[in-house]
Amino acid sequence: MSQSVRTRPEGSGQALSEAYDTALLDLDGVVYAGGNAIVHAVESLAVAREGGMHLAYVTNNALRTPDVVAAHLTALGIPTGADDVITSAQAVARLISEQVPAGARVLVIGGEGLRVALRERGLEPVESADDDPAAVVQGYGGPELPWGRFAEACYAVARGVPWFASNTDLTIPGARGIGPGNGAAVEVVRIATGAEPQVAGKPLPPMHRETILRTGAERPLVVGDRLDTDIEGAFNGDVDSLLVLTGVTDGAQLLAAPPQHRPTYVDADLRGLLTGQPEVVADGDGFRCGGWAAVARAERLELEGEGAALDGLRALCAAAWTVAGEGTCTLDAEKALARLGL
Ligand SMILES: [Mg+2]
Repeated sequence: MSQSVRTRPEGSGQALSEAYDTALLDLDGVVYAGGNAIVHAVESLAVAREGGMHLAYVTNNALRTPDVVAAHLTALGIPTGADDVITSAQAVARLISEQVPAGARVLVIGGEGLRVALRERGLEPVESADDDPAAVVQGYGGPELPWGRFAEACYAVARGVPWFASNTDLTIPGARGIGPGNGAAVEVVRIATGAEPQVAGKPLPPMHRETILRTGAERPLVVGDRLDTDIEGAFNGDVDSLLVLTGVTDGAQLLAAPPQHRPTYVDADLRGLLTGQPEVVADGDGFRCGGWAAVARAERLELEGEGAALDGLRALCAAAWTVAGEGTCTLDAEKALARLGL
């Protein structure tokens, strides 16, 4: 990685929706949660789009086709075409197509999204290790995926057939809790075969490349809720990112982020697209943002002042990341975050 180490969130005098031509939005925890729109998402995206920002949706979930995702978003009040949805199934299909002959057979362990993406690249999805596949691909298959599918993958992978995975997210959030994601399914085949798959999804380059190829974005802003997929993917692609706190990341995790997990900007929710971002400025041995001042002491991060909670968090980020440098901040931030209600 060639970037210098980020030690504070950046400011922006312009609304982010004007400073960037395309938002590359994660879905779960950013736009919706458990199928329902996240607070402020629908209105904020409408305003950003009316202002000329191109909106694209980037998901590691390989089960649903872009058509199905677009219909879901449209039903939530976010008018979306299938072309504006990029999935890890599309990214892995392109990766496979570059390594196997045109029209090759590919053994699919997963759902409809994978099959559609393979056909789009001229590849033929097959269901059995006996179908002479040139590759094996694994993507999230949903709760009905039978155990026997993993056996098919193992038979082929053990023979040396190249193995691919759409993504390796270990978990997938659902209405009843956290379930096993495709990464957990990949572990089953890895344990049984000892082989290693090639992976396409966030935070890896094939997914970012697919997104840029399909959107034509020139000045993209990655918008996500997860540090180790969305924000790290942006870091790996050398593009700017906005972390929103409507999903899986809390203030403590953000303060402890290593360099590749530090977003360019942080905001509470998607309203952050529509505004500028305040500067964080060095002040003595600490940092100020809005009405807050943060400083790193011997064992903890301290916060003084008052104002918007997000400004306090931005000042704390600067104090934490500056102390951590290329590592991870281990100072106690509990009291400071409690003052902000974060
Ligand atoms: Mg997410």
